[in-house]
This record gives sequence, structure tokens and C-alpha cells, in this order.
Amino acid sequence: MDIRVIENINPKAKPDENNLGFGEYFTDHMFIMDYATGKGWHDARIVPYGPVSMDPSAMVLHYAVEIFEGMKAYTCADGKVRMFRPYANAQRMNRSGQRFCMPVIPEEDFVEAICRLIKQDQSWVPQAEGTSLYIRPFMYSDQSNVGVRMPDYFKFMVILSPVGAYYKEGLNPVSIYVEDEYVRAAKGGTGYAKCGGNYAASLIAQKKAKDLGYTQVLWLDGAQRKYIEEVGTMNVMFKIKGEIVAPELGDSVLPGITRDSAIQLLQSWGYKVTERKIAIEELLAAAQSGDLEEAFGTGTAAVISPIGLFNIHGEKLQVGDGKIGPVAQKLYDTLTGIQWGKLSDPFGWTYEIK
Ligand SMILES: *Cc1c(COP(=O)(O)O)cnc(C)c1O
Repeated sequence: MDIRVIENINPKAKPDENNLGFGEYFTDHMFIMDYATGKGWHDARIVPYGPVSMDPSAMVLHYAVEIFEGMKAYTCADGKVRMFRPYANAQRMNRSGQRFCMPVIPEEDFVEAICRLIKQDQSWVPQAEGTSLYIRPFMYSDQSNVGVRMPDYFKFMVILSPVGAYYKEGLNPVSIYVEDEYVRAAKGGTGYAKCGGNYAASLIAQKKAKDLGYTQVLWLDGAQRKYIEEVGTMNVMFKIKGEIVAPELGDSVLPGITRDSAIQLLQSWGYKVTERKIAIEELLAAAQSGDLEEAFGTGTAAVISPIGLFNIHGEKLQVGDGKIGPVAQKLYDTLTGIQWGKLSDPFGWTYEIK
């Protein structure tokens, strides 16, 4: 892929690596590429980070024609910068795009665009313990048209953000409100696609949970509000009587790459992992009887996020002793150990940026 570069002649001051937060700072450059029906992807470029202008009638502003990805790059123990399973993100972006009639982006181009941008902004990859470079690829249509139609013009962009730990609480368990009024996704809908629209529709439940003092929402299935689907920005897993249970994937659950990686690790350690439907009543019963040993979320931003407390239909239930469990801790240590190059990478998940 030909990528032209316009250097930023006004680089910003770098933020304090020990106080990065999540998604607050952005690097000096961004990647943009245009698509037009008949012409395909063209004019790949790395330009100074800054506002994009678009017509007020741009379709993304009216009909939410937008998808995105989320991934990270890490400064490893050997000083090299590596990403985690970038081709899995490329594949998922194309699966999301298909749901929105968006053009396919060749996986090689997706990964190359990110590598070139990270090399351009290499000095922004943080090095302090626990930090990483969050990568946000996204695609949208800025076609000028307020008629609802299949767009012919799209943009693919990548921006980068140096980040610290995702949760203020760190690895301390989070509290989860089980949402039994609003739904995130329906059968045949867009739940499996990583799209902005899903998040726009979820904010009201997130606000409700926050107002009630909870960190995140646990979503139930759209038809019956009976089966557990996932947490706001994470997939979820439970350890019940020694067995790991993960809600099965379907078209209303986002197929997380961290979820997949965690399952592969757990299986390699000899755990029985069952992907199946799990009703909220089953979780309630397991929590009440003491069979629920651990609960945790999986996602790129937090990696592993232990859950200490559920509010299920107004009832507060503590998980285990309310502290992080040994499985969640081992998954976190192993995944982040592989990502930061402190442990060997038997699955070939890391990808060096050269
Ligand atoms: C991105 C995302 C996840 C986690 O996926 P990862 O690939 O593990 O980061 C889970 N649920 C939703 C709704 C998401 O958007």
C-alpha cells in the first residue's frame, strides 16, 4: 500500500505516563484512507492529528454509518513494540462492516496502516508499568445525503492514544448492575458488530447503573431478558463449581478477542470451559448457594476485570469473598505477561512492529 506522509510540524507535549487515564490523549498523527464505489480504497495517508471536516449532511451524523475496532500495542521487556492478535481485529472489522454494507478492507492493509502509524508516532508508545498504546481504527461514511441509501463513499481512519490502567479501581473487583429493562442487542440485529450505534443505545443503562453506584451493566438477551449476554464493554465468564462457563456467542454478543484468548489459555491449563446459554436465575442461584466461585469480564481495555458484586433484580450478591479470584488473577498475569513480552508466547499472538 502506498502511504503518503505529511509530518506534524507542531508536535504536542507528551502527557505524564503515570497519569494517562483512558482515551484522553492522542498522538501527533492519524491515518486516513478514502473509498469510493468503482474506485476502491485510495489516497492512504498519515497526516497531523486534528479535526476532520465533513458536510452537515454526512451520513454518519444522521444514520450512524460507523464501525470501529479497539486494540493495543505494548512496549515489551526487550524494548520492541508489539501488538496483540491484530489480524483478529482486521477480520472482525470486516465482519462488522459486512453488517453495515461497508467495503472490505484487506487485512494486510489494515495491519500495515496501523504499523506505519505507530512507527510514525513511536515516541508516543508509553513505557511505564501498566501502560500501553490504545489503537482505534474506525470506518464511516461521510457521504453528503440525508436520504437513507447505500453509501458509495467511506473513510477508514486510525488514531492512537497512550493509556494507563482502564479501571480506576485497578484490578480490584468491579460492581455490576444486571439490566432487566433496557436491552443492548436483538436477534438479527447488530450486537455482534462493533459499531457506535450499539454504544449510543446503551448509554442510558450505563447512566442508570452509575447513578445507582455500579461500575458497569450486565446485559440480558433482548427477547426474554433471561440469558446473560455480556457486560458493557466486555465479555463475561463465570467459574461455577470448578467449571468455567462463558455465555455462548450469537448474533447479539460481541465476539471478543480477549474472550477467545482467555478460553484458549484456560483450556491449555486443563480447565473445562463450557460455552452455553446461562440464565440470570442460574447465576443468582449459584451466587446464593456459594457455587459461584469467580466472575470476571474480558476485553482489550481492561484485559481481565474481576467482578465482586452483582445487583440482580435489586438483590445484591457478592461473588466469592468479593476479592479477585485465582483464575482471574492468573489470566490477567498470563495475558499481560504475553502482551508485555515478559512471558513466552506459545500461541503466536504477538506481532512485532518493525
Ligand atoms: C470490544 C468489545 C468487547 C471486547 O472485545 P475484545 O476484542 O476482547 O476487546 C466486548 N463487548 C463489546 C460490546 C465490545 O464492544
